[in-house]
Amino acid sequence: MAKAKYTTHLGMVDILPDESPKWRALEQIIHEEAARYNFEEIRTPIMEQTELIKRGIGQLTDIVTKEIFAFTKGDSNYVLRPELTAPVVRSYVQHHLAQRGGSQKLYYIGPMFRAERPQKGRQRQFHQFGVEVIGSGDPVADVECIAFMMSIYKRVGIKNFNLKLNSVGDPESREQYKNVLKDYLRPNLNQLSELSQKRFETNPMRILDSKEKEDQEFIKNAPVIGDHLNEDSAAHFKKVCDLLSSLEIGYTIDPLLVRGMDYYTRTAFELTSPDLGSQDALAGGGRYDLLVEEIGGQPTPAVGFAAGMERLFIACEELDISLAEPKTVDVFIATLGDTARDWAVKTLPVLRDRGVSATMDYLGRSLKAQMKDANRENARYALIVGDNELEAGKFTLRNMHESDEEQLDLEQIIQKVAHLSND
Ligand code: AMP
Repeated sequence: MAKAKYTTHLGMVDILPDESPKWRALEQIIHEEAARYNFEEIRTPIMEQTELIKRGIGQLTDIVTKEIFAFTKGDSNYVLRPELTAPVVRSYVQHHLAQRGGSQKLYYIGPMFRAERPQKGRQRQFHQFGVEVIGSGDPVADVECIAFMMSIYKRVGIKNFNLKLNSVGDPESREQYKNVLKDYLRPNLNQLSELSQKRFETNPMRILDSKEKEDQEFIKNAPVIGDHLNEDSAAHFKKVCDLLSSLEIGYTIDPLLVRGMDYYTRTAFELTSPDLGSQDALAGGGRYDLLVEEIGGQPTPAVGFAAGMERLFIACEELDISLAEPKTVDVFIATLGDTARDWAVKTLPVLRDRGVSATMDYLGRSLKAQMKDANRENARYALIVGDNELEAGKFTLRNMHESDEEQLDLEQIIQKVAHLSND
């Protein structure tokens, strides 16, 4: 085979026809489950203002410093969205969604872009689904987000995972904890990794997230934020834990969980799977009570999560879960001669109008080749038409799976195959 002249960019992947059914199946599960939870879909543009993303996610985060695809055109700065929390909040503020009343329970599905080093489970264009509940500071909202997230994996059939939970506190608790953490790390600062030394001033809590070997010893014995939460944050966290337990959603408290965006307050969570390799995070989220105000809205508490769709598919593969049925078509019309072909072209819409999926040969091939095509298309029936059949008004309907044939008129054929599509 000749080598293709043009290919996708590094880390950007085509979803080919054999793959798209499982995407549709997952999307359908998400839409159905969202309806059950009374979440409403939001779709925002692929590109946002660079400033929004920097401001929203945090100037010093990895995403903003290393991973955004940004460019300028005319006087405008564009960025391909690396996540959807900041854009959804932007939309909430821009369109005054608060005026709809109550808390806004929003969900989304779509592509995100991050210029990361590609590897299994990590792409530069990848897809997330997620929710944002904007307008409620109640722990119930945190738990509803988590319950929704879990419900998707449950429906897909992924049962083996670890829900890690932490509270990153409110600004007051965080300030206090950051000082405690810095006091603890300061005497050994020059033994920490270069990255962690940098983060010491800018975002010391991210040091807890470090994968660098030299940091591990210090991280292991570090003071934990759970011991430094103020009364409100501690009560909030306890309520989240209690509600999860009452729903029998298992979790482990991970005091090192801080997550990559600056906007998190209080609850932070991550869902990992032992069935994934080194990129084992299926989903993550948390509360971000300061973001709406940061982006120019009224102070408004909010909570959400984002889940990687490619990672979910990798877990499915490992577990031999298939989300979609093999492709099929109800009827393949195989024709002998030009009159029969013309009849087929006119008959296709008749079948389709009655809810039957139908196709025919577009290449003028021999009957034998057409029957092969019918097989390849996994047709349930082949409808075979030649001059004799047209004259008699009776056609051969071959059941491709059982290899038996009947002579029927068109209405009888429709009666026979129509129920297939409506099952
Ligand atoms: P984040 O927005 O970083 O919290 O990521 C949420 C989820 O999106 C992760 O748990 C992953 O499942 C998925 N994810 C994040 N980055 C990537 C990527 N580069 N490629 C594929 N999936 C990703």
